[in-house]
Amino acid sequence: MIKSVKGTSDIASPEVLVWQHVEKTMATTAKAYGYEEIRTPTIEMEELFSTSVGQGTDIVEKEMYAFPDKKGRHLVLRPEGTAATCRAYLEHQMNLQPSPAKFYYMGSFFRYEQPQGGRKREFHSFGVEALGEQSPLQDAEVIDMVMTMLSRLGLSHLSVDVNSIGDDNCRPAYKDALRASLATHEGQLCEDCRRRMSDNPLRILDCKREDPALLESLPKSADYLCTDCEDHFHRLLSTLEALKIPYHLNHRLVRGLDYYTRTVFEVISEDLGAQNALLGGGRYDYLIRHLGGPATPAVGWGLGLERLVSVLTARYPELLGSLAISRAYIVHSDTTTAAAFQLRHALADTGWALDVDVRQDGFGKQLARASKRGARIALILGEDEIAAGTCTMMPCGYERFAAFLKQGTLCSHLLRQVQKLRQGTTLWGGIVMSERERGSYAD
Ligand SMILES: [Zn+2]
Ligand SMILES: [Zn+2]
Repeated sequence: MIKSVKGTSDIASPEVLVWQHVEKTMATTAKAYGYEEIRTPTIEMEELFSTSVGQGTDIVEKEMYAFPDKKGRHLVLRPEGTAATCRAYLEHQMNLQPSPAKFYYMGSFFRYEQPQGGRKREFHSFGVEALGEQSPLQDAEVIDMVMTMLSRLGLSHLSVDVNSIGDDNCRPAYKDALRASLATHEGQLCEDCRRRMSDNPLRILDCKREDPALLESLPKSADYLCTDCEDHFHRLLSTLEALKIPYHLNHRLVRGLDYYTRTVFEVISEDLGAQNALLGGGRYDYLIRHLGGPATPAVGWGLGLERLVSVLTARYPELLGSLAISRAYIVHSDTTTAAAFQLRHALADTGWALDVDVRQDGFGKQLARASKRGARIALILGEDEIAAGTCTMMPCGYERFAAFLKQGTLCSHLLRQVQKLRQGTTLWGGIVMSERERGSYAD
């Protein structure tokens, strides 16, 4: 039997309902903040990421899912969303449109590494990017937006870890101070960090293999900010305070990528225990220039959907049940099949899942299948119903069917009366059900 590719997953019902719920809630919120969806290709030129994401990072050095195509071009399955969004922004000259350009995206991303601990080769992210605005209020907006998304999804005790890593103006002096301080501890550092000392010493601050006490003792980037960076940082923090968004200064929070500037942040849910960031983001004022475009300030974040879905499912075991769609089963006879299809057509915007039985056998067998399929109600269309211009609605459930059948009465003759549940199904003049059934089964 052919199996799925290593490190990939199939997502099916009922879990897919949580995915749909998360994606819909996040997309609706992003739109409410004035962000529009952007869909970029799954494959890109390798150099898009090697020039932007930066050499010396794990993404480029170890994890890119890269391959030559039949003409020998170097392609990759996209490892992240920001560089591709910026490529599209430049390629279509969106920088000439009014600023800021505000995008959200969701989809599959890829890395080529040994799948372990929930890290897959194909994974899914939701992200936002605001391009063309340098105000710290833009940073506050993207943070406020994700706090709204997560609280709408039911997560609480949210807070933001935030830091500023400066810019080209002030970061060189900070890197020098960091190197000078690290020089006396070089022997204690892991192999990767010894290599990072010269070109990327900030990465050492978030290395999981280093002694936390040593990292805590190192110089802090926030103490080396130039006037502009300091002003930006303070205005961001005062806006978060005004918005009542709880934050912690985290001096060890850095981004390993060269194009990040000033603000870096992570959102933490204390419900998940310490050190559990749900997402990370920050400002990347130099990325678009690196890609050959004009200097364009930008800020955004990206969130792994696998983790968010598993957190929500664990926290809300009842979520799956509440998201399940109501199912109705249309039972019919040989002569009423077309009417059954037409009834489904007429009810297609009700939000119900509507099965028309396609085996065309007796009502009893159809009703038993309706029960097995988990239908809440059966809509019965026999010749009597057609003649009366109506349709019989009855509750599903094996015991209830059995009781009806035992009475030796044709189901289509039962429960056909009274109260109109639904006006305007022009074909039948309304679906009818008894007072009693309506009482126990109406939404
Ligand atoms: Zn290290
Ligand atoms: Zn600065």
